[in-house]
Amino acid sequence: MKKLNAPPFDIKDVRFLRSKLTDVPTAQNLWKRSDGKYGNFKKNVTTTMKAAQSKRCAYCGTRLFEERPHRDHIAPKSPHFRWTFWPTNLVLACYCCNVDCKGETDTVAVVAASYRRTTFTIVHPFLDDPADHLDFGVADNAILISPKNGSAKGAETIRLFNLMDPERAKERAKDVLFDEDVEHLHGLTRDMFLAAAEELRGGRVVMKT
Ligand SMILES: [Zn+2]
Repeated sequence: MKKLNAPPFDIKDVRFLRSKLTDVPTAQNLWKRSDGKYGNFKKNVTTTMKAAQSKRCAYCGTRLFEERPHRDHIAPKSPHFRWTFWPTNLVLACYCCNVDCKGETDTVAVVAASYRRTTFTIVHPFLDDPADHLDFGVADNAILISPKNGSAKGAETIRLFNLMDPERAKERAKDVLFDEDVEHLHGLTRDMFLAAAEELRGGRVVMKT
């Protein structure tokens, strides 16, 4: 969950897609389409965001193994149909985060005239820096996560995505110990994460695989 930069999309295409969004059912139907501009946009999201996210889930940071990972609308299509094809409203997420945890949860706190000014209840992958909201530490063969300085967004992100689940905390530790691309770890603030990994490697925690 490193802060992501807005992906490069053709603004004319985005405007065209946006102009078709009149209500929730229309948005849901248009999102299902795979022809023309609709299909191209979705393909672009997958290709662009796979690279931008280093093939990591935007919310929990675990590796995305699927060829075509889930595309998640950060603000859900219902009720926020206007942002169905908005590039910074779309990220790739693992099944666990996208389906099991987030589902149709409305993550918008206050709607504003523009997407950029809208506020969210969770750490937003494009608008927020996770380093401001989340802290990491090591204990019991796992990498723990906690809200930074009492951040409400951090707390809600941890709650919604079940990030303190013991299995998820162990998965993070395995990632950092055995992945070759630890430098690109996503979902975690790199420096803090590497410091936690040093602690693990230093023998204070013995990993069992
Ligand atoms: Zn995830």
